[in-house]
Amino acid sequence: MDNTRRVRVRFAPSPTGPLHMGGVRTALYNYLFAKKHGGDFILRIEDTDQERLVPGAEEYIINALKWCGIEPNEGIGFGDGDCAPYRQSDRKNAGVYAQYADQLIQSGHAYYAFDTKEELDEQRKRYETMGKAFAYNALTRQNLKNSLTLSEDEVKTRIAAGEHYVIRTKIPRNEEIRFHDIIRGWVVVHSSQLDDKVLFKSDGMPTYHLANIVDDYSMKISHVIRGEEWLPSAPLHVLLYRFLGWEEVMPQFAHLPLILRPDGNGKLSKRDGDRLGFPVFPLTGELLDVKTGQPEKFTGYREKGYYPEAFINMLALLGWHGSSNQELFTKEELIEAFSLERVSKSGAKFDAEKTKWFNQQYLRKRSDAELAAELLPMLKEQGIETTPAFAEAICRLLKEKVQFSYELRDQCGYFFNDPAGYDEGVIAKRWNEQNAAFMKSLADAFNGLGEWTAATTEACFKATAETAGINAGQVMQLFRVCISGLGGGPVLFELVELLGKETIVRRLHNAVNTIGK
Ligand code: GLU
Repeated sequence: MDNTRRVRVRFAPSPTGPLHMGGVRTALYNYLFAKKHGGDFILRIEDTDQERLVPGAEEYIINALKWCGIEPNEGIGFGDGDCAPYRQSDRKNAGVYAQYADQLIQSGHAYYAFDTKEELDEQRKRYETMGKAFAYNALTRQNLKNSLTLSEDEVKTRIAAGEHYVIRTKIPRNEEIRFHDIIRGWVVVHSSQLDDKVLFKSDGMPTYHLANIVDDYSMKISHVIRGEEWLPSAPLHVLLYRFLGWEEVMPQFAHLPLILRPDGNGKLSKRDGDRLGFPVFPLTGELLDVKTGQPEKFTGYREKGYYPEAFINMLALLGWHGSSNQELFTKEELIEAFSLERVSKSGAKFDAEKTKWFNQQYLRKRSDAELAAELLPMLKEQGIETTPAFAEAICRLLKEKVQFSYELRDQCGYFFNDPAGYDEGVIAKRWNEQNAAFMKSLADAFNGLGEWTAATTEACFKATAETAGINAGQVMQLFRVCISGLGGGPVLFELVELLGKETIVRRLHNAVNTIGK
């Protein structure tokens, strides 16, 4: 790495829909890299393709980054820096791009093209009948309508008459384009594989390629960290840096691997998420689908109960690994450990179960009081009022049993209500006269018990079993079913202590009076 240059990186999404988790990962890696090197992380909105704009998408991107804690220090939604504006449509209005399109024309690296859509479609068809694919390039441009084939006067007349044109790159005919990618090593592409990409349109709008290069240059971007789908564009970008005389300050490239479906076959899409039951977006929402123009609803990690720390920890390891087997990283630890050199070249398989595991780990890291603060409003919503201390005790008992905090709510009904039914499997196996009599005598023994703790109630339980000539282990689960209705749950006698004598005794009587009746 060139150590003399200030690290400045950007996340440059196009607001064409909700931010996919692959995009969040790109933002995360940019963020980690910037923080690691004490540099800047910029959010730039690339909205040159106005036809694909989706209302609300920009806001969604900003909210998603905020929720994830991936906060840019410059850019749309996060405060202006020296390089404002940070939205390309605003930059276009400020006249940032046109001068560079002109410069490329003047230096002979770009040209005007006047071919209409119909004419180009015709070419495409003609090539198809020959079994070939048409490309606007060094071979075909000589026979098409552009400033390389028309006279200077004619070009001027057409432009003056307001005729639609585009400005195309003049890709050199026979050249090897080489650049170094931090993740992939040297990439070599022959110029004959590139076409003369459009850079600018007569409506004054630059295309993605020109705007992207001009902005990276003028925002002094040192490293371009982006998804693998942009790798095919990189040779053109390298050429543009050269044509504009900016080779010295060309950013270093790092193209990140794709996030793959759980089975490894292809890129993870929204449809895979729907099919397999996991979200591929950070936040739930509804936006227009750019392809169909119809509103489309989607589910997010936040609404599915994931903690942002768990989500970003999982994403960080999807394509990157630390120097050891460590899997749990705080954000600070990620910043410390992150390096682009340890990003893998090959795609990373998404694992929904592992993602839940990450959430569970972060849930366990929370204190009982923190979990109680999450649980209390969920209970209130269900009309259950309780004290913070009782909610904390519930969290202490159930914490090891759940992956999401909403499961605490779903699993804590019996802390408040007597069982309305009893686990049928356990009842069928264990309920008989002898055991029913045992539960009755247990209720009596509990009633007479002085100090009520996990230890005293457990001792009392064992003594009562012994007196009745029953193996305590054989009736333990049945006892749990009698007091909670369920065959499984938290450490039994801690539950007994928390529920208290009155409740336990009442529930034992209820069980004896209702089961099998
Ligand atoms: N606007 C492009 C996108 O939507 C940015 C690609 C890049 O980072 O250069 O992903």
